Amino acid sequence: MSDLISSDLSAVQESLRSGKLTCRELVTSYLNNIEAQKDLNVFIEVFADEALQKADETDALLKSGNAGKLAGAVISVKDVIAIKDKGLTCSSAILKGFKSLYDSTAVARLRSEGAIIIGRVNCDEFAMGSSNENSVYGPVANPFDKTRVPGGSSGASAVSVAAGMCIASLGSETGGSIRQPASFCGVTGLKVTYGRISRYGLVAFASSFDTIGIFSKSNDTTSRVLEVIAGHDPNDSTSSAEHVPAYSESVSARLDPSKIRLGYIKEYFGEGLDGEVRDGVFGKIEALKQNGFSVREISLPNSKYLIQTYYVLTCAEASSNLSRYDGVRYGFRAEDHDSLEEMYVNTRSRGFGTEVKRRIMLGTYVLSAGYYDAYYRKAQKARRLIREDFENAFRDVDYIITPTTPTTAFRIGEKIDDPLSMYLSDIYTVSANLAGIPAMSVPAGTDSKGLPFGIQIIGKKFDEGGLLRMWNEI
Ligand code: GLN
Repeated sequence: MSDLISSDLSAVQESLRSGKLTCRELVTSYLNNIEAQKDLNVFIEVFADEALQKADETDALLKSGNAGKLAGAVISVKDVIAIKDKGLTCSSAILKGFKSLYDSTAVARLRSEGAIIIGRVNCDEFAMGSSNENSVYGPVANPFDKTRVPGGSSGASAVSVAAGMCIASLGSETGGSIRQPASFCGVTGLKVTYGRISRYGLVAFASSFDTIGIFSKSNDTTSRVLEVIAGHDPNDSTSSAEHVPAYSESVSARLDPSKIRLGYIKEYFGEGLDGEVRDGVFGKIEALKQNGFSVREISLPNSKYLIQTYYVLTCAEASSNLSRYDGVRYGFRAEDHDSLEEMYVNTRSRGFGTEVKRRIMLGTYVLSAGYYDAYYRKAQKARRLIREDFENAFRDVDYIITPTTPTTAFRIGEKIDDPLSMYLSDIYTVSANLAGIPAMSVPAGTDSKGLPFGIQIIGKKFDEGGLLRMWNEI
């Protein structure tokens, strides 16, 4: 049976329709994989009974020919995306006991086409982190080496797909939280254009950066999930009205390499990049050349400002967004207090973890009256320059290729006390979020320790379809 459980949703559906596999068997197999790999600490909650019940319904719908487009798609969801009547904690103590009153638009759309949500998964607290160690539920382990991190913040989403616990996972990105763990776990992670997928029901970290995105091992699966969840939503005024193409219809059509111009960013191959990752990514670039693509070196001169700009702006937005967790409206409240202010202070001091507090303080500082111009306003200007760098580059090339991460997965504990070195693991991913453009990490090989790394492909606004087709070429 296990050979019928393909990473391609179309193949799974074919097996279900032909009766070689039942949806109950499919879900049971994923549940067994979840149970057998509990030590990876992936799931916060498994919706086993509901998933099995949905599976039986799916089997019946398939028989009567009424199944939805995503029938049999078994999907895990990061604990920052709302699922009606389920816990929604962002892996934080401050949201302990909080349950969502409604479905996020992405989850509602998945369900409406018959997808099965198998559970909610661990992540870094409020999606802040690059290792999935900042979680009230404890760290998640990388299935390739359990002493190593899976990346973050959507680390458990990446592992759930890598370790065969579901066919796809919804994660979220503010600065690389899908692509970086995808790279560390040997799966593909797609971060879409800002506004392509509704943020309704995605807990806000930095609202002008945040997007929902998709992990899977197959462009058939990702394209079919994307075409269901993308598109305008009246509940999110920043969601785009741009037409949603039928991604899955064109995804397997080969590109004509003679018509595609690729560029690699010279600044992304410098200091800090591991030699094996560099060689692996250049090896892929060489293969693309051999296959007829034109490849040139390009320069994005403002790349030196990426990390500073990203952290100033996202911390500023986070300090504002996270002010709502005051002990009154959501989850946890410290009970020992003599005044309202003391209640706020005690709740927030105990409810938030170290990294979240660091960012709230940094963000409050850069927004404070005396420093606003020096930091926040300046970072906004730098963001514009970074966006213009991409606009200029995309006059000469159609897709940009870079490594996804400077190294393969590091050890659990290795960077936790050194925030700057942790932040540097996002050095190649934050640019696409600053510019609001789509980007994807596709597995590109393994290093001599057997640890995977990805190659990043960055595209023009709303060219997710092109990225998904480029995946065939890697
Ligand atoms: N690792 C980055 C950070 O800590 C990215 C987080 C994200 O994309 N949510 O901010």
